[in-house]
Amino acid sequence: MIAILISSAILAVFIIACFCVFFDQAILTRKETIYRVKTNEKKVALTFDDGPSPVWTPKILDELKKADIKATFFMIGHHVAEYPDVAKRVAQEGHEIGNHGYTHGALIYYTTEELEEELRYTDFMIRQVTGQITKYYRPPKAWITKREKEKIKAMGYHIVLWSLNSKDWVTFDDKYIVKYILRNIQNGDILLFHDSGGVFKTEGGDRSETVSTIPLLAEKLKERGFKLVTVNELLSGGEND
Ligand SMILES: [Zn+2]
Repeated sequence: MIAILISSAILAVFIIACFCVFFDQAILTRKETIYRVKTNEKKVALTFDDGPSPVWTPKILDELKKADIKATFFMIGHHVAEYPDVAKRVAQEGHEIGNHGYTHGALIYYTTEELEEELRYTDFMIRQVTGQITKYYRPPKAWITKREKEKIKAMGYHIVLWSLNSKDWVTFDDKYIVKYILRNIQNGDILLFHDSGGVFKTEGGDRSETVSTIPLLAEKLKERGFKLVTVNELLSGGEND
């Protein structure tokens, strides 16, 4: 009996792990969001979620600076409040900051008023600390309904998901991440990475593979003629797909 329970538990963990690695939930909620841009230019947007992190964001910023890349960071409001100097550095180095909500809570649990408050307060915090006004919003885990999309757009935001998910929070090999992206990349893609957190939380984690992916990816994409840009720059050169 115990053996059956243990093997069932192992099987359940295996199925969940496979789901996390191979399935991208954003596919289900992409409708009427920006997830890829139609363009003839070989440009793709590089995005990082869940920061700022006092450990990983500075390392990522160092790599971006070396490779001369500007990216978009979808920040969590309470991380901005906790680590304002890191958020400030992101802005000072010319990167774009997007709104990823204050608590990283799933939107389905919010009333319309709470949703509005969550976004407004995150924008207020980012504005106070970095001087940037957020106009792009990314829902935590891409969980968002039609009603929430309408509400967020009415607030003046563009909802940004992604077309290529690095799965850097479950893929622990920089070379594999680069190979996966190179195999699938198209003009106008939006790439998802994380500068904070791990499998179960948005703080801490081990983002060392994310850090080491940046120079590898930058070099390979440059060889193929692709330029890594911010979401704003990608949108300014094409139409929403
Ligand atoms: Zn997130």
